[in-house]
Amino acid sequence: MKRLKGQKVSDGIAIGPITVVTSREVKVKESYVAPEKVPVELKRLAKAMKKTEKEIQTFLKEIGSEQEEVQAIIQTSMEFLNDDFLKSEIRRAIEEEHCSAEFAVSRTIERLNERLQSIDNPTFASKVADLIDIEHRVINNLMGRRVEQVAKLDRQRIVVAEDLTPAQAANLDRGKVTGIATERGSWASHTAILARALGLPAVVAVHGLTESVALDSTVIIDGFRGEVIVDPDEATLVDYRQRRRKARRLTASAALERDRPSVTRDGQELRLYCNIETKEDIPRVVESGARGVGLFRTEFLFLGRTSAMSEDEQYAIYREAVEGVDGGMLAIRSIDFGADKFDRHHGSGFKELNPFMGQRAIRLSLEHEDFFRTQLRAVLRAAVHGKVRLMFPMIMDLGEFRKASAVLERAKEELRERGEQFDEQLPIGTMIELPSAALDARKLAREADFFSIGTNDLTQYTLGVDRTNQRVASLYTPWHPAILRLMKEVVRAARKNGRYLSVCGETAGDPWYLPLLLGLGIRNLSMAPPQIASVKRALRRLYVSHCNDLVEDAIDAPSADEVQGLLDQFHQRAGSLL
Ligand code: PEP
Ligand code: MG
Repeated sequence: MKRLKGQKVSDGIAIGPITVVTSREVKVKESYVAPEKVPVELKRLAKAMKKTEKEIQTFLKEIGSEQEEVQAIIQTSMEFLNDDFLKSEIRRAIEEEHCSAEFAVSRTIERLNERLQSIDNPTFASKVADLIDIEHRVINNLMGRRVEQVAKLDRQRIVVAEDLTPAQAANLDRGKVTGIATERGSWASHTAILARALGLPAVVAVHGLTESVALDSTVIIDGFRGEVIVDPDEATLVDYRQRRRKARRLTASAALERDRPSVTRDGQELRLYCNIETKEDIPRVVESGARGVGLFRTEFLFLGRTSAMSEDEQYAIYREAVEGVDGGMLAIRSIDFGADKFDRHHGSGFKELNPFMGQRAIRLSLEHEDFFRTQLRAVLRAAVHGKVRLMFPMIMDLGEFRKASAVLERAKEELRERGEQFDEQLPIGTMIELPSAALDARKLAREADFFSIGTNDLTQYTLGVDRTNQRVASLYTPWHPAILRLMKEVVRAARKNGRYLSVCGETAGDPWYLPLLLGLGIRNLSMAPPQIASVKRALRRLYVSHCNDLVEDAIDAPSADEVQGLLDQFHQRAGSLL
């Protein structure tokens, strides 16, 4: 039995046999042809390219328009296929160096990939998977082989891979795949996006995964903890079967929670909201019984797109979202590109050694003001259709908040000049994700209408622990006393100035963490829609007065380990469901 830690990207538990998907299954030998055979090779190449194009087009049609993200990913592969530079380089290898068509394709793409990877920019690195996908398809067509069918599995299986190419991810046998684990990838990788959309338990960035499994391995994916267990022993299997049953029962009974109150045993009401990434998530928000959306991560609308998004296009999306939440709140966050999320138009253009500390979020928006104002105008216009709020990500201090607010004023001015209808009173808030913002929350609270604490980033920036680096995953502890103290400071500042405050990091959806948030005085939480039911269930068993005592002890604790111990004891005493 082997336990491997990774990054959790989609909740749930899967247990079962695996299918190993390799992204480099096409082996091509170095081979050359006689000069008189060059025209034959060029013809074969043209035919294979055409066939590949047709295949991708058919695939795009099959996917259907309801899966926008997947379509966008495949569309990028198509662009590569039609890229003039790539085509002429492959032809040149055949004409001038007399490479066989297969070898010309393989070598050209490999060289291009090497160049992309050496640039050390996530935008380019993410294109490598698209190129490998094209390489596979063209070479398989040259060799007259069928493209690998992850789409046809003999039985229910867990997919294990180094990484999935976009086509492999989109092509999974939906009826048979029960979970996904990959060695590479991140929260925003293709695999993660797809796993969440399909509701499959998934863990990515699992170091050493592919070399730890054998073809006949049984694997457990713990999408709640971000763990993969290879060849579990009998006791672990029994334990996890039980957890899987519990998880399934909870999912099945989630609907019952919809109309139940979210009130603690001593009568404190908590207002629960959802985090969303696309407007397609809205029906799940409504089904969960949440009061609306506490965090709309708008950068996901742009990821994978090949063209810019106009103001009207964005307006239509935000309007549909706010109309969809049925009178509930919609807190739109302006884009948070940079770090590990990039689109075509917002690559930093040069290598950043520390991208999480680099040109990210509001910094990038301020640098690209035209793009920023376009988004702000769209939000201002959509706001007349419901309870919209706008918040800025990664604000460092009041000075930066003022800069962002000034851009908003300019966006309003543009709309006034155009005679466009918009919400003059749109509430403007800020995410609290940097220790500087938390420490200076009192100043921010004088001008910001509301706060939303992003514990995911607040943890990484306070503790100096990269949230995507699996080597320091055990140090990533949002329950650390220093994080709790910072949050307490923010709660005080918000209260003193009568500002609305919520928490929208992953901690907000974690029933284990809940007593800490309650004890800190937080009453608004925003989480992924499937978590609403379990948080509601958990809070109904808690007394706020007990949580207050817990937080006092936790803040005084010397390190995260002691807080963990206190919290575990607390749950035992409270006889909670965990
Ligand atoms: C956070 O940092 O806690 C947060 C909610 O933002 P994101 O996870 O999108 O960085
Ligand atoms: Mg964040």
